[in-house]
Amino acid sequence: MNVLVTGGAGYIGSHTCVALLEAGHSVIVVDNLSNCKRESIEKISQIADVKVTFYEMDVTDAQTVDVLFRNHHIDGVIHFAGLKAVGESVEKPLLYYVNNLVSTMVLAEACLQYGVKRFVFSSSATVYGDNKVPFEETMNLLPTTNPYGETKAMSERILTDIVKANPKFGVSLLRYFNPVGAHESGLIGEAPNGIPNNLMPYVAQVAKGKLKKLKIFGNDYPTVDGTGVRDYIHVVDLAEGHVAALDNLTAGVHIYNLGTGQGTSVLELVKAFEEANDIKVPYEIVDRRPGDIASCYADASKAERELGWTAKRDIVTMCRDSWWFEKKMSDQSVSSTVV
Ligand code: NAD
Ligand code: UDP
Repeated sequence: MNVLVTGGAGYIGSHTCVALLEAGHSVIVVDNLSNCKRESIEKISQIADVKVTFYEMDVTDAQTVDVLFRNHHIDGVIHFAGLKAVGESVEKPLLYYVNNLVSTMVLAEACLQYGVKRFVFSSSATVYGDNKVPFEETMNLLPTTNPYGETKAMSERILTDIVKANPKFGVSLLRYFNPVGAHESGLIGEAPNGIPNNLMPYVAQVAKGKLKKLKIFGNDYPTVDGTGVRDYIHVVDLAEGHVAALDNLTAGVHIYNLGTGQGTSVLELVKAFEEANDIKVPYEIVDRRPGDIASCYADASKAERELGWTAKRDIVTMCRDSWWFEKKMSDQSVSSTVV
């Protein structure tokens, strides 16, 4: 298939491009480079040993997207392009609603107009809110605590309504749990700008000595050791989940959790990182972070049943690959998403 990958120069998108190319698909990558580096395109080509078509463009721009669809035969779209910083979304809600919703609507419109029947959307486990774990696809969604999460829930509803009106259109809503790790080559990975918000990049930067201590947000949750529990998934497993979702996509709306089904606490992750990499990660316990829930992990059985996909890489591999990427990136003194 010829696959349009929006946001394909970013963290999950770049790994998915590699997985698509390795599975024999062709990719057209579009990205406005707002949260990544152009070099990631070369890195994707280098890993997969295939030339990648790339356009720097904004997918909220309907006219440019129309030209793209007119000029290329596209069999399917994987829509990663979006803004994802929870805190920033609280400060700049309009930026998030416009970017994340308009992009989805513009792309869906182009698909309908040009007869593209496969649309894979990057959703998030955040749409479950504080439901009872493990989260199942059939659960009623609960309100999220921020505009970012709302853009995911709203995009899901918009795409579902579009399918109701266009029953031949196929949409896969992929609810990601916590993507971590990097490609084993260390060429692509996640390098957040500034101080990381997410646990794994923070841990890696503490280990590297860039940050002094990890602050663990609360140890009084009703979990195994009081710290927050999440379902960490290796980004390469996640990328492979997209290939499976695209390959199996039929008409209608299909919702899948992409997680491992395993919950890991903050303290367990720190210990796994220390053991996997033989390095110390100093930490202190501080207050809970507002908006956090105690536990979030997937029932991942539907994706296994219907897509034949399961996550294969364990927490040790996730910690090792995160550390390898952090070391490689620091050594090259590059400070943006992908080196
Ligand atoms: P990322 O920021 O690395 O990648 C997103 C890419 O989209 C970036 O390269 C950015 O430049 C691009 N982009 C943003 N707005 C654009 C626009 N209007 N036009 C063109 N390009 C645009 O983020 P990621 O972690 O790879 O996330 C990919 C998707 O998965 C996002 O939609 C995100 O919300 C979703 N998601 C991520 C996580 C996570 O923890 N990383 C979890 C759940 C869902
Ligand atoms: N966390 C932490 N210190 C940090 C970052 C995160 O203790 O510096 C905790 C956070 O409270 C949560 C878990 O690590 O329990 C995962 O947080 P992350 O932000 O990576 O993912 P999310 O909360 O969005 O699932």
